[in-house]
Amino acid sequence: MLYIVGVGSGERYLTKEAEEILNNVDLIVCYTGYKKYVERFNKPIYTTGMKKEIDRVKKALEEAKDKDVALVSTGDPGIYGLASLAFELNKDNIDIKVIPGVTACSIAAASLGAPINHDFVVLSLSDLLTPRELILKRFKLALEGDYIICLYNPISKKRKELFLEIANILKEKDLIVGIVKHAGREKEEKRIVNSKDLIKYIDFIDMNTIIIVGNSKTKLVNNKMIAPRGYLDKYKV
Ligand code: SAH
Repeated sequence: MLYIVGVGSGERYLTKEAEEILNNVDLIVCYTGYKKYVERFNKPIYTTGMKKEIDRVKKALEEAKDKDVALVSTGDPGIYGLASLAFELNKDNIDIKVIPGVTACSIAAASLGAPINHDFVVLSLSDLLTPRELILKRFKLALEGDYIICLYNPISKKRKELFLEIANILKEKDLIVGIVKHAGREKEEKRIVNSKDLIKYIDFIDMNTIIIVGNSKTKLVNNKMIAPRGYLDKYKV
């Protein structure tokens, strides 16, 4: 059996179900950088590095023929995780169960206040697997639709261009933007800025950061970033 387990973003967000499974499997498979999050389960761990996702998933499927295996993703494995690839590569019809986890944007949002409490779009700025034009098109359409926009993978060491293009588009807008680095972890840091100034935060933002662009109704209440549901307008409170 193959469990595709989300371990949450930030150590405190591991669900009971994930904990139970990690305590009971025969093998844990994960990205080298995540080994530290699963060592405490005292299980054999197989790791592969960045860009070795296909090898990792194939190994997990192979081992799952006669063992219980947990393939671990941070946050939710079905949100920019390996869940879909595992289904796509499952030629031997291994039983696969996805165990959801608390995704980074939920944790970042809670830390900022309530910024995704209305319709929102989730977008990754990584162009490793998705063409840049498509990412930009989706971003522009989401802005046009006045959606709140959560940006995963905003920047990496080698990849800043899309962030710069998006920050340039946002220069012309007047929206509230929340930036959370290491959400839910001890070293969490956050900023709430105007979209016109987002570009100035390029050195603050890295691959452990999530950016939440507010919609036209987003406001600050006691320094918290809030997306109103509309109750006050409707009920004239
Ligand atoms: N499956 C993960 C997302 C993996 S994509 C999830 O559901 O959360 C990796 C991106 O997620 C990072 O580049 C960053 O944008 C975001 N991310 C993951 N953990 C984070 C954290 N603790 N704080 C802020 N952003 C995080």
